[in-house]
Amino acid sequence: MKKVMKTASPEETFALGEKLGREAKPGTVIALIGDLGVGKTVFTQGVALGLGITEPVASPTFTILQVYEEGRLPFYHYDVYRIGDLEEMEEIGYEDCFYGEGVCIVEWADLIRELLPEDTIRITIEKDPEQGFDYRRITVESSEQ
Ligand code: ADP
Ligand code: MG
Repeated sequence: MKKVMKTASPEETFALGEKLGREAKPGTVIALIGDLGVGKTVFTQGVALGLGITEPVASPTFTILQVYEEGRLPFYHYDVYRIGDLEEMEEIGYEDCFYGEGVCIVEWADLIRELLPEDTIRITIEKDPEQGFDYRRITVESSEQ
């Protein structure tokens, strides 16, 4: 499945994430791809709320992984921007999360592409300056039919 969507504000991107969070099944892995400031964290915050998480969600840049347990399913939020090598992911124990019963989301997922499960939902967020400052094109790709 490949679906291209457009948003015109952070609220719209947040709402897309929220919908995904409401519908997410145990074991869902979401890869977020896109440059700094495109809205990966905004999208993630939406997913968190969709899962029923009300505590604030920020980018866990300095810890790589932040875990939230208060929602409908455990939520694992990775930001691998500062990852040195794939071994760091092993140290964090990513396999338990990627192949577990929670929902995982990975900002800068391209950097750990080799480690992502086959059924990962890939979400690419892009700007297009010609379409305005707050415009984003959001492409969702999954192995699901
Ligand atoms: P990233 O995590 O990709 O580095 P953030 O989510 O932290 O990016 O920041 C995205 C920034 O872009 C926020 O300041 C947000 O308000 C702004 N923004 C403007 N338009 C949009 C949009 N359509 N979708 C998401 N964020 C947007
Ligand atoms: Mg971010």
